[in-house]
Amino acid sequence: MTQDAKITIVGAGPAGLACAIVLARGGASVVVREWKEVVGHRFHDDFQGLENWTRGTDVLDELAVAGITADFEHHAFDRGIVFDPTGHHHRVRGRRPLFYLVRRGPGAGTLDRALLAQARAAGVEIRFGDRVQDFDGAGVLATGPREADVIAAGHVFETDMADGAWLALGQDLAPGGYAYLLVRNGRGTVASCMFTKFRDQAKHVAATEEFFRAHAALRMHNPRAFGGYGNIRLPRTALQGGHPVIGEHAGFQDALAGFGMRHAIRSGVLAAQSLLSGADYTTLWQAELGPALRAGIVNRWVFNLAGETGMGFATDRLERRDAGDLLHRVYRLSWLKRLALPVALRRYRTPLADPSCNHESCDCVWCRHGDHSQPAMSQSNRKRGELA
Ligand SMILES: Cc1cc2nc3c(=O)[nH]c(=O)nc-3n(C[C@H](O)[C@H](O)[C@H](O)COP(=O)(O)OP(=O)(O)OC[C@H]3O[C@@H](n4cnc5c(N)ncnc54)[C@H](O)[C@@H]3O)c2cc1C
Repeated sequence: MTQDAKITIVGAGPAGLACAIVLARGGASVVVREWKEVVGHRFHDDFQGLENWTRGTDVLDELAVAGITADFEHHAFDRGIVFDPTGHHHRVRGRRPLFYLVRRGPGAGTLDRALLAQARAAGVEIRFGDRVQDFDGAGVLATGPREADVIAAGHVFETDMADGAWLALGQDLAPGGYAYLLVRNGRGTVASCMFTKFRDQAKHVAATEEFFRAHAALRMHNPRAFGGYGNIRLPRTALQGGHPVIGEHAGFQDALAGFGMRHAIRSGVLAAQSLLSGADYTTLWQAELGPALRAGIVNRWVFNLAGETGMGFATDRLERRDAGDLLHRVYRLSWLKRLALPVALRRYRTPLADPSCNHESCDCVWCRHGDHSQPAMSQSNRKRGELA
């Protein structure tokens, strides 16, 4: 790659912007082409958790090493309350932060706006309102989710509640997933994160809010509805038409709980390093992200099989141990998980097939978001693509 050859990054999400920052700091000339007029348009000022357990390093140190500053609003949570499906609460705690609370969306202080500012400061050209069908030369594909394997829906709101993080399990609240409530500095996010039964979204959101009203004294002022969807796959190469594919476009997302930000940013950094150094991108992401992604698929399969008793057992163990250490172990690809992986890969989606939603006459967030076409690449390129 020559210094003056312009590299195109398609999509200005965390994956694309992280990639752009590292490339530009490495001396490359970079343009990020973003379909919408703003960054973070998929998000609504909702809180999300930047997980801190899949790797041994603290996620903010990992960003710093890559040259990305944590100058977005963030807050370390080292504890929270988890409700098992019987409604029994478990206090969980880690000796280091379990996750960093961040805000998402186009507004000031969000992760999205901070990465945009860092990219611009590094000299990256950003083009908004530019829906890419195809491009010439070197590039990276970072267009986000292409299908809905998981949806989250609920409300963002103001509150007089104290800061805290709550998670609740149960099919009524969040089929195949979990309900969450996050409060920080008078702002809150409550949502049902569902892996199936999307058509009943409204019912599960109502049940989630009722549950947290009863068990966590949820108080919402000025609630605004929000929702979004995510895509989970394990690609073979994460190359398409020879270009690295990063973030959720590649399907990089935890199959158990739908955490995707850390994988998105990290895959962006790895793609940038591969372009700068000539190293093989597939080798890099397989080595760094592959084990946790694979472990996540086995975790999801086990979760689907576990039933309410299994979930009760798991939440009890989380309470008794250092939750961060335990989660880190759960996301290690042990020999047992390696053995289980082929079965898990075949089976983990089966219980998630959603007979309630054929995406026709349905009002779930996936069906409501409008244009479901896959615009990132031309059909011919997609046919050449190598995603699993
Ligand atoms: C409600 C919700 C809650 C979540 N909570 C968490 C959480 O707590 N923790 C966590 O880790 N993860 C969470 N996630 C997942 C996380 O937000 C995503 O994994 C992450 O944003 C993926 O980043 P990305 O850069 O790959 O994609 P995106 O953030 O989707 O960015 C992709 C960008 O590409 C642009 N684009 C698409 N097509 C084109 C085109 N043809 N041309 C140009 N641009 C294009 C899009 O407009 C978009 O801006 C959540 C997701 C949702 C929906």
